[in-house]
Amino acid sequence: MSSSQEKSLCEPAEPVVLPRSEHPISRKQIDEHTLKVLYRLRSHGHKAYLVGGGVRDLLLGRTPKDFDVGTDATPNQVKKLFRNCFLVGRRFRLAHVRFGQDGLVEVATFRRQPREDELPENPEDHFFFAENVFGTPREDAFRRDFTINALFYDIADFSIIDYVGGLADLAARRIRTIGSPQVRFTEDPVRMLRAIEFAARLGFTLDEETREGIYSRAPLIAEAAPARIREEIMELFRHRVAGEVLRQAQGLGLLEHLLAGFEGDAETFDLLDKVDALTASGRPIEESFALAALYLSRFWRACPQGDGVPITEVVRIANLVLSPHCNYFHIAHGVRHLARELLVGCYRLSRGRGKRGEQRFVRHPLTPQALELFTLWVEMTGTGSELAASWQRALLRPSSTEISAEAEPIRRKPRRRRKPRKPRVKSEAPA
Ligand code: ATP
Ligand code: MG
Repeated sequence: MSSSQEKSLCEPAEPVVLPRSEHPISRKQIDEHTLKVLYRLRSHGHKAYLVGGGVRDLLLGRTPKDFDVGTDATPNQVKKLFRNCFLVGRRFRLAHVRFGQDGLVEVATFRRQPREDELPENPEDHFFFAENVFGTPREDAFRRDFTINALFYDIADFSIIDYVGGLADLAARRIRTIGSPQVRFTEDPVRMLRAIEFAARLGFTLDEETREGIYSRAPLIAEAAPARIREEIMELFRHRVAGEVLRQAQGLGLLEHLLAGFEGDAETFDLLDKVDALTASGRPIEESFALAALYLSRFWRACPQGDGVPITEVVRIANLVLSPHCNYFHIAHGVRHLARELLVGCYRLSRGRGKRGEQRFVRHPLTPQALELFTLWVEMTGTGSELAASWQRALLRPSSTEISAEAEPIRRKPRRRRKPRKPRVKSEAPA
C-alpha cells in the first residue's frame, strides 16, 4: 500500500468505539483461558484485545471457531508473563499460552504493513515479512484483510474498537477489503479466495469494488504458495461451502487460476454441494474424499464406455486425472492413493452387481467411503438410486456364507518349480 493510500485509509483519525452498553458481547461468551490471558496482559500494563474472527462471530451471534488475542506486548514480554507460554513459528513469531492438555490461546503482537522500502527484494518473501513487523493497534487493524475481520474487543473497558468501518459492513452484511481491493489482492492473492469464502460462510455479499478487484486480479492467485491454497481449499470443505465458493470463483474467473487446468462443470459444483451437506450432517471431511469429489466428474468423462475395461486401465485413468493437482499441491502419497482408490471404487460400483471379486470389494475398508461418494453422485444426477441402494444392502449384510467362501485367498496353482539344471558338461571340442 502506498503511503498516500495508507494516509487516506487512516481517515478519520479517531476509531469508532462502541461502549459495553451498545454492543451485545458479554464476557460469558469468551472462553475462560482467553479471558485469563487478556486480564493478565492488561494487569501488567499492556493493551489486550480480542481480535479477528472471534469478535466478528460474537457480534453476529455465532459461535467463534477460536479466539485470538492481540497485544502491544512483544512475544518475549508475553513469554515472561506466562509460565506455560511457548513462542512458535520462525516466520510468524506468535506466543502460544497453554492450559492443561487441550487449552491453547494464541497471542499475537500488533503488526503493521511494512513500507515499500522495508520489503525484502524477493517478492515471494513479502507476505511473510509483512507478518512480522510490529505496529500500533491502528496499524494492526489496517493490515488485516476485510473490515469485518478487523474489529477489536478491548478488555480494559469491554468496548469494541473499529478503525476500518467493520461495524457498518457487519450491519450491511458486506465483505469489503480494507483499502483498495486491487492493492490488497496484489499484496496477497489468497485474500480473493478468502473474500468469497467469508461471503459464503456468513451469507454476506461481496462489496462491488471487492468483486471487481477479484475479477481484475484473478490470475495472480496462480502465484500464491500452493501450500496456502491447499489449506484454504480444505477450509472451504470444513466450512461446508466448497460447492458455493468454487462455483462463485468460477464466475469471477478465479477458479481456472486457482486449480490449474480444473474444469469446473455444473455436475462438479452440484456434487460438492452434496459433499457440503454431508459434512454439515456431522461427517468429518478428509482431503482424499474432497479430492475424489473434485475430480469425479472428470474421471467419469475420461473412463471409456463399456464393461470390458480392465481395472488396471481404470487405475491408470484415475492417476492421470488426479496427478496434476497432487503434484502441484505436493499431496502426500497416502492421500493420493486413497483418492485414487475412491475413484476406482466409484467405477466398480457403477458397473453394477455380480462382477468378479465382488465379495472382496464389499469387504474392502475403503468401499463404504466410495459408496458414500457414489451415492452423492447418484443423488445429484437422479439416476442409479436402485443400484446404490443395492450396494448399500450388500455392504450392510454381506452374506456370511458368501464371505467365508470368498474370504479365502484365491488359490493359484502352485508354480511348478524347475528342477535345477545340471551343469552342462562341456563336450570337448574336437581338436
Ligand atoms: P475463522 O477462524 O473463523 O476462519 P478468522 O477471521 O479468524 O476466521 P483466520 O484465518 O483465523 O480467520 O485469521 C485470523 C485473522 O487474521 C483474520 O480475521 C484477519 O483479521 C487476519 N488475516 C488472516 N489472513 C489474512 C490475510 N491473508 N491478510 C490479512 N489479514 C489476514
Ligand atoms: Mg480464526
